Amino acid sequence: TNEPNIYETGVLDTNAEGNFVYTTLDAAINWIRKNSLWPMPMGLSCCAIEFMAVACSRYDLSRFGSEVTRFSPRQADVMIVAGTVTYKMALAVRRIWDQMPEPKWCIAMGACASTGGMFRSYSVLQGVDKILPVDVYISGCPPRPEAILEALLTLRKKLDTQHPARTFFKKDEPREANSPMP
Ligand code: SF4
Repeated sequence: TNEPNIYETGVLDTNAEGNFVYTTLDAAINWIRKNSLWPMPMGLSCCAIEFMAVACSRYDLSRFGSEVTRFSPRQADVMIVAGTVTYKMALAVRRIWDQMPEPKWCIAMGACASTGGMFRSYSVLQGVDKILPVDVYISGCPPRPEAILEALLTLRKKLDTQHPARTFFKKDEPREANSPMP
């Protein structure tokens, strides 16, 4: 079937006779989180158009529980920075990132968001990771919808390695960007 494989998470083990359920708190939280990653599309230029394609029926983002696109940062889990980040927009991007509740993740979509792309310009930030922590980078100009799906799957795998239970009762520490904002 096309149902998500929950056996890999360690939530359910059918090897044992009688199919008894065991899990760790980490595995349960990660399984819930990765199947409901609500994206906040930070569309800044042409890449944002390609992101629209991935949410439509042909590529069907809803297979992974990420079809609930949120335009309020308060309700979003993963910011998808799609496009050229100019210095003028950088402050707004950072402010919206700060308004997203922890835990949160970021995908830099396309050459511009990842490195500034072709715009070696005084007005363009050379990668959004200069102002916020990026979890997954997508190459391409623009990336194909398949690449966006692959980035989402990569992020889901990354979630499997996290230990939310250890920090469950204390506030998540904010992660730092690669370098301070110029
Ligand atoms: Fe546009 Fe290419 Fe930059 Fe994406 S990577 S925002 S398609 S110029």
